[in-house]
Amino acid sequence: MLWVSERQAEGLLLSLSVKRTLFAGRSQYQDILLVETHRYGKVLFLDGAVQLSEADEFFYHEALVHVPLFAHPAPRDVLIIGGGDGGAVREVLKHPGIRSLTLVEIDPLVTRLAQEHLGARFDHPVLRLLHADGIRHVAQAPSESLDVILVDSTDPVGPAQGLFSEEFFGHCARCLRPQGFLAMQSGSPILQLPLIKDVQAALRRGFSGRAWLYLAPVPTYPGGLWSFSIASMVLQPSQALRDAPRGMALRHWSPQVHQGSFALPRFLQDALKSL
Ligand code: SAM
Repeated sequence: MLWVSERQAEGLLLSLSVKRTLFAGRSQYQDILLVETHRYGKVLFLDGAVQLSEADEFFYHEALVHVPLFAHPAPRDVLIIGGGDGGAVREVLKHPGIRSLTLVEIDPLVTRLAQEHLGARFDHPVLRLLHADGIRHVAQAPSESLDVILVDSTDPVGPAQGLFSEEFFGHCARCLRPQGFLAMQSGSPILQLPLIKDVQAALRRGFSGRAWLYLAPVPTYPGGLWSFSIASMVLQPSQALRDAPRGMALRHWSPQVHQGSFALPRFLQDALKSL
């Protein structure tokens, strides 16, 4: 039996038995491994870290997308940075009224593999796919041009490092309309608390203190629990402004899950209090 392992932390491995390897190689940015596993279906690894599994990606993509979009009164223009696997695009396009969706993914090999093996689709009429650096894209984007920015990036290493910086958050704040949201994956509350504190502190500096943390289970991610950081100059994110329209396919998000995801365990509340 072939096994693939992710070293999630010192002394901690996630190992998955593999049915078949769909792709193993390196792009100009990262090592890429795409396998079909017995337990979690197809799994995408970048530089050895699980990015998504077919079995549990819905927790992550619904949490990242639907919390800001249902907390916004009328999201029209959305930007996704990273997200080359197509999951966040799929969820955003479930929202009626999206006028423009821009996906800025630095690695064209990721989007190619996602289309070939993960059912990703990038052909919707309102979608613009750019293979570029999201950091530079936001720095050059027009002011007050977006309602929601979603950062669906790898962890802050390599090309993703700058996506966790105060300078980047400042450009996001400039590009967002007054009622806009920035939401991003911000790491494992179990294993990456210093990262979470850094992101929250930088977001609060970039958004006049208005940043929050919310959680969702993602079994294949380090610690099995994941955090998202969200910021807005005006709006409050912890309540959904409406329920999902009838027929919207969801497996995680609901107005109750939305609200509950902001109920943080005490150790996290205490960690954020000290910022
Ligand atoms: N859901 C995953 C997670 O939370 O770790 C992220 C999935 S998605 C595959 C991450 C993507 O971010 C990768 O495809 C990577 O190429 C992209 N990325 C990293 N840095 C980037 C940057 N500066 N600009 C645009 N895309 C970037």
